Amino acid sequence: MPITEFADISIRGKSLTRDQCHEVLDCPDEDVMLLLHETYKIRRKYFGNRVHVQVLRNAKSGLCSEDCHYCSQSKVSEAPIEKYTLVPKDTLVQEAKKAEQIKAARFCMSTSGNRPSDAEIEELCDIISAIKTNTQLPLCASLGLLKDGQAERLKAAGLDRVNHNLNTSQRYYSQICTTHTFEERVDTITRCQAAGLEICSGGIVGQGEVNDDIIDMLLALREIKPEAIPINFLIPIDGTPFEGMDTKLSPQKCLKVLCLARLINPPCEVRAAGGWEYHMRRLQPLALYAADSIFVTGYLTTGGTSVKEVCDMIEDMGFESTIEDAGC
Ligand code: SF4
Repeated sequence: MPITEFADISIRGKSLTRDQCHEVLDCPDEDVMLLLHETYKIRRKYFGNRVHVQVLRNAKSGLCSEDCHYCSQSKVSEAPIEKYTLVPKDTLVQEAKKAEQIKAARFCMSTSGNRPSDAEIEELCDIISAIKTNTQLPLCASLGLLKDGQAERLKAAGLDRVNHNLNTSQRYYSQICTTHTFEERVDTITRCQAAGLEICSGGIVGQGEVNDDIIDMLLALREIKPEAIPINFLIPIDGTPFEGMDTKLSPQKCLKVLCLARLINPPCEVRAAGGWEYHMRRLQPLALYAADSIFVTGYLTTGGTSVKEVCDMIEDMGFESTIEDAGC
């Protein structure tokens, strides 16, 4: 079947077969524009020409006990990053108010670490309640693995959405992290959904995985039905176990992955997340035909393109930008 029929399959609610997924990831580079044209039909049906520009900064940095090989904040990383404990409540409330003033659609907090204690959850709940009291903004938080009762506490405090990525396939997970499992990540997502929280869950490509791993991850996400799917592109940070990794990510490969994410999960927000500017280079604007959301300057511990540059690019392409998250 030609790839020009894949959008219709997707819009009809059917899943692409594994062979069709491979056709997308293996399509010749000269067919990428054709693939983007197909993918844009789906993107336009669900999201029109709107682009959410997401700005994210850490609320807690470094000091993590996990060994995620891609992460500069892990216990095995020697990357020279700034390390700090949880940013004070008053600072976060002020940041959230500023976000509301610039008409951000959401406020996002990311904390390093995994398995927060009940005391840490209570501290976060206090912050969440304070932000909810002072703003009307929906709140998202990335907090690591959660245990019994914690998702319910966060929901009761006012949290709207949790970011918890699958990161790669179940098969490949032990190659990117040994201190927790893929199954534990799925368990946390299930707990959050049961508590009534929205889910933002995606992954990272360029970690040495094969195309079957990318396909498995995206098909697993189709089962989970998250509201948003961030696709990160590995930047092999010096001092991490993945320093010097050959990511095998060309700009065309990045576009094919974004297209497949959209084709497999048509109604989900698909985000060109960490590393997209670095790997897509001059093809950055083409990401908008597949993704309805992009990350800009200030996410986690690496730099990015400035908000103004990105908004100018979005307008030049004939799309409309909305700032979705503002940093904390
Ligand atoms: S990704 Fe999160 S859990 Fe893993 S090492 Fe980094 S901060 Fe820790």
